This record gives sequence, C-alpha cells and structure tokens, in this order.
Amino acid sequence: MTRTLLSIGECMIELAPRSEDCLTMGFAGDTFNTAWYARRSLRPGDDIDIAYLSAVGDDTPSMRMTDFIRDAGIRPILRVRQGRSVGLYLISLNNGERSFSYWRDSSAARSLADDLEELPVKGQGDLVFISGITLAILPQAGRKRLYAALENARRNGVTVAFDPNLRPRLWSDTDEMRREIMRAASLADILLPSHEDEATHFGDRDPHATARRYLAACSAPGAMVVVKDGPGPVRIYAGGTHWDVPTVKSPHVEDTTAAGDSFNGRFLVGLMRGEPVAEAARAACQLAAQVIGKRGALVAVDGVS
Ligand code: ADP
Repeated sequence: MTRTLLSIGECMIELAPRSEDCLTMGFAGDTFNTAWYARRSLRPGDDIDIAYLSAVGDDTPSMRMTDFIRDAGIRPILRVRQGRSVGLYLISLNNGERSFSYWRDSSAARSLADDLEELPVKGQGDLVFISGITLAILPQAGRKRLYAALENARRNGVTVAFDPNLRPRLWSDTDEMRREIMRAASLADILLPSHEDEATHFGDRDPHATARRYLAACSAPGAMVVVKDGPGPVRIYAGGTHWDVPTVKSPHVEDTTAAGDSFNGRFLVGLMRGEPVAEAARAACQLAAQVIGKRGALVAVDGVS
C-alpha cells in the first residue's frame, strides 16, 4: 500500500543573481526543500508518495509554483486564496557574500491552516513533516488548528517529524518562539534540530543538552532526536541510548543552504523504507555533503537513494 510523506509549510519564489543585471527565478523554502530531496531519494519500487501541503494565490507565479511542485514529482495539496500571492526572497551578492531579503508577510502560505480540519494522511506508515518556519508563519489560530490536526493524525498512527529550524526574525518575540517550538516538539515522534541554532536560542551547552531538552518534551514513548551539528557528527538519541554518525567530508563548501533540509529529506525516506537509523543518517550526510558543494537550495545531485 502506498505510504505518504506529507511536508507542510511555505514554498517561495527565489530570485538569485545570474549576472550583474540578471536574476534567475526559482522556488524554495525549508519544508519544500525537504520534500524535494525526499523525492530525489526515492528508488524504483519505493511505494512512497511525497506530498506538499501549503496555500498559494490565484496569480501566475502561484500557478507556476504549482506546476514546479508537480513537475518535481511531488503531489501538490495547495489551497488557492483569491487575490493573494506567494512569498518571495531575493539573494544579493556583495563581494561574494550572500544576503537574503524576504517579502513574505502577506503570502498565501500564512493561511495554510485556516481551514485545516484534518491532514490528508491515513495512519500507520504515513509521515508528516513540519518545521519551526511552518509554525512561525501561521497566526496563533492557525497553529492551534495545525496542532489539533497533528494530534488527531498521531492518534491514527501517523508519525510526526519536526525540524525546529529556529528563525527569531519570523516571530514577534523569542519567548513565543521558544514556547511554540517546545509545544510542537511535544507532538513529534522524530525531532531534527541543528545544535548551533539551539545553542544560540535555548542556551544548550552541547548536543546532549539539545537532545535531553527535546526528549523531555516529547510525549511519544518511542521518540527519536537527531541532532545535526554542521560538520560535527550527527547524534542520534532513541530507545534510551545514543550513538554518533560521522558526517561526510565535503571537498568544497560552496553554500550551506538546504544542508539540513536535504539531510531531513533523505533521512526520513530512509526510515520510511525501513533502513536502520544509522544507515539512513549516513546516507543523509552523504547527500548533504553534495548539496553544500553547490550553490542554491535545490541542486542536482547524483546517486541519491
Ligand atoms: P542546518 O542546515 O539545518 O543548519 P547543519 O548545518 O547542522 O543544519 O547541517 C546539516 C547537515 O549537513 C549536517 O548534519 C551534515 O550532514 C551536513 N553538513 C553541514 N555542514 C557541513 C560541512 N561543513 N561538512 C560536511 N557536512 C556538513
């Protein structure tokens, strides 16, 4: 029976400099990147459907985004909001340094949970992925609806995976960010934090502290915490024990955008396929090492699976 990996969040238009006076238009966003790399990680015979839930407008960029998602082999589950549009970000280059400017305050994706009663997943074997950015863009009422839908899905046996992806600039205050992140963590079975962010915003002294805090918050008895740490080993905590998986040395680090997202996509597909956790993490590190060797969020990668 086909199982579903459903990612929920915001995909945006990406405008990146091609030359001095020319921009290239693409599409990206953390939860979408995760779905994209999950899709690239599928092997023939994997009976896994990768779906993306969000909201878009009714204009041409929204339609192009929908086509892009579908053409990538991802099933779009997109609410269409009349008169709205999608968010956008611009990458600027200044002496080789990249900086990002965002226009997303009124994007349609902020309304993705407005009418969300139930998630389009069935039960055991299906997985839902959200991130801290998914939470950050939603109004409080939307977050409540999303939490209720996640709780309901979990009661039916669906696995919930959560990457806190802390972005204080998207929150009105950091206390609210910390509170909502821990609330969502309490509903998750698989947590995928990055230690550096967690150290900055929660004051964790080391990856163990990050893992302990999330394990304490999880209500799921079989919860798993996977702490990413840039080039440092990935630390996996599950079933009362923990172990390290070394990352793969990248011959050349060009751009770390989507390192964590690609890791998440490959890791979650591995778990759904029934790979041992360490094997899934090793393959995820291999993919992330390729991704950081190239510029951009969605890069061509070889030999994923
Ligand atoms: P995020 O992108 O969410 O901040 P991290 O920076 O912790 O996440 O990186 C996620 C994963 O990407 C790491 O677990 C590792 O596998 C890979 N990675 C990131 N930076 C490097 C690096 N410099 N060398 C090798 N692998 C890296």
